[in-house]
Amino acid sequence: MPRDNDANIRVGIGYDSHRFAPGRPLKLGGVLIPSDVGLLGHSDGDAICHALTDAIMGAVGLGDIGEMFPDTDPANKGRDSIEMLEVAVKRLAAAGYLVNQVDVTVIAETPRLLPHREQIRARLAFALGIESASVSVKGKSNEGMGWIGRKEGLACIAVATLKGNS
Ligand code: MG
Repeated sequence: MPRDNDANIRVGIGYDSHRFAPGRPLKLGGVLIPSDVGLLGHSDGDAICHALTDAIMGAVGLGDIGEMFPDTDPANKGRDSIEMLEVAVKRLAAAGYLVNQVDVTVIAETPRLLPHREQIRARLAFALGIESASVSVKGKSNEGMGWIGRKEGLACIAVATLKGNS
């Protein structure tokens, strides 16, 4: 239990990365983004949804997305990651928690997120059961450094606060 039960606020962090690959869809936050390369993964490779799912589950100590949807399970192949996020939200509700607010940073040289940001915020907000105003999505380049700088893939960091629903 948290130290201050009256506050009943939990914080979680999530991280994910995926490799770029040709011939794959580029889906971020449940939104299909036009691109020459997509994201490799057992599911659809949606790093925003994966990092967010880990953040909200981590806030309540419910484990992580890999435990909930093992990549050894054929049922998870090509799975829509927004759907995984929605399952996690339902599980949190069953555990007595609601998502309060989230903040997401995508670290990538490409694509540019800004043109898609409002659509991503709206899609995530719907999945999380909160308003778009409570969903922050930011894009960040890696200044050309390392594997992200070489455009080998992208990474995402997400933070979420949850509150008790009682
Ligand atoms: Mg992932």
